[in-house]
Amino acid sequence: MLEVLNYINGRYLPAADGGWIEDVDPSNGTVYAQITRSGKEDVEDAYQAAKKAFPAWSQTSQDQRAAIMLKIAEGIEARLDQLAKAESRDNGKPVSLATKVDIPRSAKNFRFFAHAITQFSTEAHESVGNNSINFTLRQPIGVVGCISPWNLPLYLFSWKIAPALAAGNTVVAKPSEITPMTASMLGEIVEEAGLPKGVLNIVHGLGPEVGQALVEHPGIKAISFTGGTKTGAILAATAAPMFKKLSLELGGKNPNLIFADCDREKMLRTTLRSSFANQGQICLCGSRIFVERSYYDTFKQEFVEAVKTLTVGHPADDVDLGAVVTKEHQEKIQAYIKIAVEDGGTLLCGGRAVSVKGHEGGFYLQPTVIEVPSNDCRINQEEVFGPVVTIMPFDDEQEAIALANDVPYGLASTVWSNDVDRVMRVGKKLEAGIVWVNTWLNRDLRTPFGGVKESGVGREGGLEALRFFTEPKNICIQYNN
Ligand code: NDP
Repeated sequence: MLEVLNYINGRYLPAADGGWIEDVDPSNGTVYAQITRSGKEDVEDAYQAAKKAFPAWSQTSQDQRAAIMLKIAEGIEARLDQLAKAESRDNGKPVSLATKVDIPRSAKNFRFFAHAITQFSTEAHESVGNNSINFTLRQPIGVVGCISPWNLPLYLFSWKIAPALAAGNTVVAKPSEITPMTASMLGEIVEEAGLPKGVLNIVHGLGPEVGQALVEHPGIKAISFTGGTKTGAILAATAAPMFKKLSLELGGKNPNLIFADCDREKMLRTTLRSSFANQGQICLCGSRIFVERSYYDTFKQEFVEAVKTLTVGHPADDVDLGAVVTKEHQEKIQAYIKIAVEDGGTLLCGGRAVSVKGHEGGFYLQPTVIEVPSNDCRINQEEVFGPVVTIMPFDDEQEAIALANDVPYGLASTVWSNDVDRVMRVGKKLEAGIVWVNTWLNRDLRTPFGGVKESGVGREGGLEALRFFTEPKNICIQYNN
């Protein structure tokens, strides 16, 4: 059976205590690999390797770091098919999605931060009259921890590691134990690219064991985390007494506001994607759809008809939706659908598990649309993270904004309207880290990324990520005239 091993100090190793976790293929429910189950000892080994590698890596010129990172990007691209198949098997997402989006974006993350670090500048202030000059150094922090979730495995893993390395830190990283395969393959790629041993260390295992050990480690000075809001709160509580630098990218319950004056054809096409891409398992999916009342009935009919045409099937086939990530997650999503109906919602389409011929043990679900009576119901307030969206009408702009903001989360919002004054008014009032207007998941890597409220603390992306992974130090020099 395939084994997923830690990558520590340039070597693939099993966990010190020899424990294993099963890796399940969501497309058929079978165990196809075993993952080494690490503990504190392995985190300590990884930390020591990273600590030893830090002085040399932090003194490596930006150009040299960038050159290695560009080679990592090339290594990922050279293995596009292999990585996309591995990602799909581990996660259940269609191979086509992994091939077109996840894996190319992972390469792009390394390429982007390779270039960004060579352009990363700092500020200087001259105090005329006082004969002094202040300037800011942006120094790497040291050993940093990166913890990522299962929904976009290599995409989010590399989104953290790339800026951390570019800034001159050394890294101990933990991918989700549910989808560790492509992170594990990264070890070979970074080695081929010439990344010195110990600069990147990858430790596999359970969140409350390995993840917790990383956050508790006194030598790991900063943690970049993407995952659920509840886990984020545990991390914050653990890190606070140590005054550890923390970036938290957490859950979402994102509104999709549709005004009657929008480009309806483009909106419908995009709303299908923003609702069901990756089986709805993207933190940015627009799971609450609000539609202006004058257009509501037409939208409802056209949207539901379009959703019914989406195909669900084995991820290796040409399908719109593959499998959701685990059996437990499938059951959780189904429980939310039941709760929504009990709360007065009307199931407009979907709602059931799908049995795919030849892969009957897989975790498939129909794309589901529920009309809800109000935004107060649980399905509109809690993150489902699956192929389920709700719809309801609104009467005017003020009500649309109020509905959009009436959740504990504030990650992303989408607004559909051709009235530029309106989109500016609405955009400014939405409580969210990202507002998309007449588009969705349109990401320029130079822009800040993150959420407000329970969707997170801090920003990653572009220069924000390089700022997070460095400590600013002000130096003031007074000189004699
Ligand atoms: P989890 O919070 O369960 O896990 C995220 C990561 O944290 C995993 O690697 C997990 O390990 C680890 N972990 C779990 N417990 C601890 C702990 N006590 N200490 C340290 N690490 C721990 O999230 P999911 O993997 O279920 O991912 C889905 C969530 O991620 C959704 O809420 C989604 O919205 C959010 N997300 C947010 C994004 C954003 O940018 N804002 C982007 C993508 C997803 P393990 O899996 O091994 O238990």
